[in-house]
Amino acid sequence: MENNNDNTISRRKVIYGLGATIAAALTAPVFTAQGEPTQGTPGQGAPLPLIGPTTKYPKPPFKSQSQPWPGLASQMDPKPDHGEKSYKGSGRLKGRKALITGGDSGIGRAAAIAYAREGAEVAINYLPAEEADAKKVIALIKAKSRKGIALPGDLRNEDFCKKLLADAVQGLGGLDIVVNNAGRQQARQSILDITTEDFDATMKTNIYAPFWIIKAALPHLAAGSTIIGTTSEQAYDPSADLYDYAQTKAATMNYVKSPAKQLRPKGIRVNGVAPGPIWTTLQVSGGATQKKLQKFGGDTPLGRPGQPVELASIYVQLAASDASYATGQVYGAAGGKGQP
Ligand code: NAD
Ligand code: MG
Repeated sequence: MENNNDNTISRRKVIYGLGATIAAALTAPVFTAQGEPTQGTPGQGAPLPLIGPTTKYPKPPFKSQSQPWPGLASQMDPKPDHGEKSYKGSGRLKGRKALITGGDSGIGRAAAIAYAREGAEVAINYLPAEEADAKKVIALIKAKSRKGIALPGDLRNEDFCKKLLADAVQGLGGLDIVVNNAGRQQARQSILDITTEDFDATMKTNIYAPFWIIKAALPHLAAGSTIIGTTSEQAYDPSADLYDYAQTKAATMNYVKSPAKQLRPKGIRVNGVAPGPIWTTLQVSGGATQKKLQKFGGDTPLGRPGQPVELASIYVQLAASDASYATGQVYGAAGGKGQP
């Protein structure tokens, strides 16, 4: 009996000690790349830090900088926050199998990190020149998920798109989330400066590739699966120097809304995300002029560009089965301007 009591007391001590350690961990803030706390760990007595959106991340003026297309996130200054340190999952996509194009950097990287931390297995596509960025993402996915699959290749080629889908399905052991996120944006002051090759590359990347990918994915998608497209505020308010890009983003809105209706009987939801100005390699590798880059995001009501991680929870939400009433929708995050 006495021994049992001793055991009870010592167990209580151990549990109390553990409790103190856990409590300390729960109150420790989590820091972003910029060193600001963004998200605490939910738990009793551990309120999340409350931070105003205007002061959360860097604002202009930014240093002028340019990289050869397609650019590397690791070379940007300041470095974008893709959620490496700040995104915490809560099992919302447990067991899901996702393919994300452009998953090496920017918005796609943020979605890839978030999906893995929500319990999904994730395959990413990117260009071979982006291997260094992709390696970092694969390591972050593997740290949280059973599978992180790297599938480099150029989406402007139909045969590659077919192979990408086949490899993703084989590697993941199925597929239930497809994120068409890769995109090409090259600013040109005049239509006269856009060559046919330029125009063709933008159309192939932003419009043909999602068409080829959706076609190849459909035979594998069961009821409950989701397709997500990345459109843009450019779909609603095109910039003068983004003639070709802006029209692909308007088309993206429609390639989301049409199949949402068509695929309703199959139980496949199709939605889009419309970001505003987001601090990514797309902008520093020809997407924006140096003049625009220095003031980037300053014309939004929040007075700064968004960071990729600020879109991650939208991609999670649209993929999660508790968003079952959302199809044919476009969710925006544009710092207070733009539509929808
Ligand atoms: P990003 O440069 O980090 O990502 C774009 C990715 O597209 C690249 O990483 C690259 O892997 C991929 N890509 C481009 N051409 C390709 C090709 N031919 N084959 C294979 N992959 C290719 O930039 P981001 O801003 O994160 O872009 C992601 C999406 O967000 C794009 O569709 C873009 O149009 C859209 N978007 C961006 C912004 C913004 O301000 N950054 C705003 C609205 C919409
Ligand atoms: Mg990239």
